[in-house]
Amino acid sequence: MNRAIVCIVGRPNVGKSTLFNKIVGKRIAITEDKPGVTRDRIYAEGEWLNRHFTVIDTGGLEPDNEDMIMSNIKRQAQIAIDTADVILFVVDGLEGLNTTDKEVGEILRKSGKEVILACNKIDTPKNPDEIYEFYELGFGEPMVISAEQGLGIGDLLDEIIEHFPEDVNTEEEDDLIRVAFIGKPNAGKSSLINKILGEERLIVTNIPGTTRDSIDSYFEYDDNQYVFVDTAGLRRKRSIYEKIERYSVIRTLTAVDRSNICVLVIDATEGVTEQDSKIAGYAHDNGKAMIVAVNKWDLIQKHDKTYREFEREIREKLGFINYAPIVFISALTGQRLNKLLELISIVNNNYNLRISTGVLNDIVNKAVLMNQPPSDKGKRCRIYYGTQISVQPPKFVIFVNNKELMHFSYERYLENQIRNHFGFVGSPIHFEFREKS
Ligand code: GDP
Ligand code: GDP
Repeated sequence: MNRAIVCIVGRPNVGKSTLFNKIVGKRIAITEDKPGVTRDRIYAEGEWLNRHFTVIDTGGLEPDNEDMIMSNIKRQAQIAIDTADVILFVVDGLEGLNTTDKEVGEILRKSGKEVILACNKIDTPKNPDEIYEFYELGFGEPMVISAEQGLGIGDLLDEIIEHFPEDVNTEEEDDLIRVAFIGKPNAGKSSLINKILGEERLIVTNIPGTTRDSIDSYFEYDDNQYVFVDTAGLRRKRSIYEKIERYSVIRTLTAVDRSNICVLVIDATEGVTEQDSKIAGYAHDNGKAMIVAVNKWDLIQKHDKTYREFEREIREKLGFINYAPIVFISALTGQRLNKLLELISIVNNNYNLRISTGVLNDIVNKAVLMNQPPSDKGKRCRIYYGTQISVQPPKFVIFVNNKELMHFSYERYLENQIRNHFGFVGSPIHFEFREKS
């Protein structure tokens, strides 16, 4: 289920960002784009009556030239129409209705989307007559608010959550980074967790099947809060262990489901096995961020090409997660465990990275110029524009004329172009192609 999205639209200076800050309160969590990148959308989490949603301020680019304002605000309105569940259309009650409001109102009304009209800057408890002119926009009675004074915000939020469609996700998302160590029995998962936590909470043993109880371990590192989701790993199929086998398969799958990041622990003495590939496949299919940790590196006789040979084997056998970084570690000696923690932090950032619509479309437009989208029987796939609609994993919606014409290989190409600019190391990237006329 997609997260509930509220977009704030309106011309410059009506109070969009003031309202945005009021709605998201202290929970503001702006993810900055790379330096030098224009930020034309601001995202944050909002919450009201235990319903959680993403608020997007579509303002940000506010040129002073009139033509630019109009084309810009039309673009914002279009993005809101294409992505929002509820559009919050803000007008200025002090200045009154103007032609820009009317044009934007027209676009929004025609879209048939849920639109809530908010008349801002009414700083007095009594409604002045001026607000009645806004009926002309065709959205009924405007919600009267003062973003600055915090008046009418509760009623506005009531109205917003009331208008969410039923099939959106409004569950709370916390800041905990849930990491699951997954892999075969004996790969060293519990040894690894023990070493990192520096305490003996898990039983470490070389007898498969003894890490019985599910324990989630909490710890903080570099200002981030982590939970290690325990897993006993997938067991080898053996008839006497049937019950245990089924139990631990379910357990591993549950651990993956509950996690944000999966660290696939591979036993260096055995190489990449079929089981590793199955587990990785499940995590990948569920859109988890991934890191490959090659453990027991202390046991490997190394020569100058050992790393590269191992890396090649992993890339060959686990080609579908080629976005996952690889780290060679030893739970026994503690070798490169710091590097692993650092990678977890980096990968988590990438998993939560947002690209502004402007930058995304620069990349997409350049990609299209270099390599035309596919065509079939004289009909060419046209890409109109793209926008990122969610994180964990980053998901991009690309608007096209005809979905049937889009190919998997072209999707791959677009993914590579985006990765060339932003990396997204460790994170999968998802695309959804939507048709629009
Ligand atoms: P944006 O360009 O639409 O994001 O507008 P801003 O949030 O930056 O606000 C523009 C100006 O309007 C700022 O000077 C705000 O202080 C002011 N403003 C915003 N909300 C209110 C309000 O409720 N009452 C009054 N009197 N001024 C407001
Ligand atoms: P799990 O089943 O994946 O949790 O694996 P364990 O943590 O129980 O480890 C299985 C066996 O491998 C134990 O005997 C560990 O001592 C050993 N082991 C784990 N990590 C390493 C390592 O980095 N180097 C060496 N030499 N042995 C390890």
